[in-house]
Amino acid sequence: MPGGFAAGVAFPKAAGEVASLVASGRRVLPIGAQSSLTGGATPRGDLIVSTRALTAVALVSGDRVRAGAGVPLVELQQALAAHRLYYPPIPTFDGAFVGGTVATNAAGAATFKYGSTRRWVEALTIVLADGSVLELRRGDVIASADDAFELEYASGNIVRIPVPTYKMPDVPKLSAGYFARPGMDLIDLFIGSEGTLGIVVDATLRVIPMPRRCLVLVTCESDQRAIDVTAALRREAAASWRGEGPLDVSAIEYIDSRALAKVPDEAFSRANVARPRDTFAALLAQVEIPAADDDTLQRLDAVLSECGIDDDPYIAAPGDDRAARRLRELREAVPSAINALVASAKASVDPDIQKTAGDLIVPFDRLADSIALYRRSFESRGLDYAIWGHLSDGNLHPNVVPRSMDDVERGRDAIREMARGVIAMGGAPLAEHGVGRSALKQQLLKELYGERGIEEMRAVKRSLDPTWKLSPGVLFPEAW
Ligand SMILES: Cc1cc2nc3c(=O)[nH]c(=O)nc-3n(C[C@H](O)[C@H](O)[C@H](O)COP(=O)(O)OP(=O)(O)OC[C@H]3O[C@@H](n4cnc5c(N)ncnc54)[C@H](O)[C@@H]3O)c2cc1C
Repeated sequence: MPGGFAAGVAFPKAAGEVASLVASGRRVLPIGAQSSLTGGATPRGDLIVSTRALTAVALVSGDRVRAGAGVPLVELQQALAAHRLYYPPIPTFDGAFVGGTVATNAAGAATFKYGSTRRWVEALTIVLADGSVLELRRGDVIASADDAFELEYASGNIVRIPVPTYKMPDVPKLSAGYFARPGMDLIDLFIGSEGTLGIVVDATLRVIPMPRRCLVLVTCESDQRAIDVTAALRREAAASWRGEGPLDVSAIEYIDSRALAKVPDEAFSRANVARPRDTFAALLAQVEIPAADDDTLQRLDAVLSECGIDDDPYIAAPGDDRAARRLRELREAVPSAINALVASAKASVDPDIQKTAGDLIVPFDRLADSIALYRRSFESRGLDYAIWGHLSDGNLHPNVVPRSMDDVERGRDAIREMARGVIAMGGAPLAEHGVGRSALKQQLLKELYGERGIEEMRAVKRSLDPTWKLSPGVLFPEAW
């Protein structure tokens, strides 16, 4: 996000140092790896509290790890791998920090099986707006029957925090302001609050034994074929989790034909994959295979044939890390190619041109309708675009490929139209990237919950941060 400026940057090494910075009374913005796509980690004159020196990692038991907010997920996975353990809710960008992913309730490709970050957080150490340090375990503080929390500060002050009354859409991932549900746990209010209610100093996370995985790239002649294959694989996966079949699929990524067309030839040759035919889309599925199992790939073959897929898939077998890395790099070549086109238009046409993209989710049975909506919204405005994302969750990222500032404006208008459409389908326009300081995303949050919902979030914010000192302007302005 352009235009950031800061009053200063601090690099605290412990909870006490974070607490002193917050207690000093200045407006602060906590940051992690600054991979936010919403401007949430872009300062606007705040004092930046960088978490990058909060890097302790300790296994607290065979299935729990306590990690500092500044631990990059890639390093967390390396530390866990030494114990044959794994942390599942990894976003596509694994350089993101533990604190940033808790703050945004990040989710990745495998949410269909594992859920978003929220499901894996057992405890948090949080610095509150008055500078006090809260150690909060899941189950410690539950909302009362009249839907409020009572939080007792170290000073003896008791603060009443109201639980918002809006109904969250029923989708596998959501990063759209404060979590709200009758009888909820206080820890869930902090997860996904994007730094507006407290600064996460460390998190205790659940981990699992490292799964043995293979990656499979399948090409499909149409969107409908890609959806049919994904639906069939989801059914197979659900059966395997009930112990009724071998095909345990944990993620299915989708790249549409327009996105594939933007990927340079070298990316295909590096991955050892032939460029799919013009109108074809690609699916990248992650399959978990227990050791000494021959049935899984046979069943996969049968399911693909039943779905009318004639071309052989590309497979990175379990343990073939090099082939898996190459297929992942091909997937990552998609956003890189679009980002390069945005950067080139910015450099050569108009410096105000920006990435203009949706982060939309629908219930899986509305996927075909949602893709049709995204295409219609862009095409009716004469825009060039590409679509990719986490198909197994119903979460896609329609991106404008802008040629002018006018394209950016029309693209934003298209995304507002898509947002209204997915909300009507029972979905949400804010699936995993959060809201941040983006004016467009703040409008989408208002589309989702209305003025009243935003006012209820403001009431939560006021109860925990009455002087609006933590991440001001993130999620919503103090007043519209
Ligand atoms: C190439 C790419 C791919 C991506 N793919 C995904 C994806 O698949 N899924 C997904 O969910 N996201 C994705 N993202 C977005 C981004 O990686 C996530 O939002 C991530 O969780 C941000 O982590 P971070 O450490 O970079 O946080 P930052 O960007 O530094 O901060 C994000 C927000 O969290 C707040 N924050 C940061 N640290 C703390 C803390 N310790 N306490 C309180 N608040 C804090 C910040 O103030 C800010 O509002 C992607 C981004 C990129 C660039």
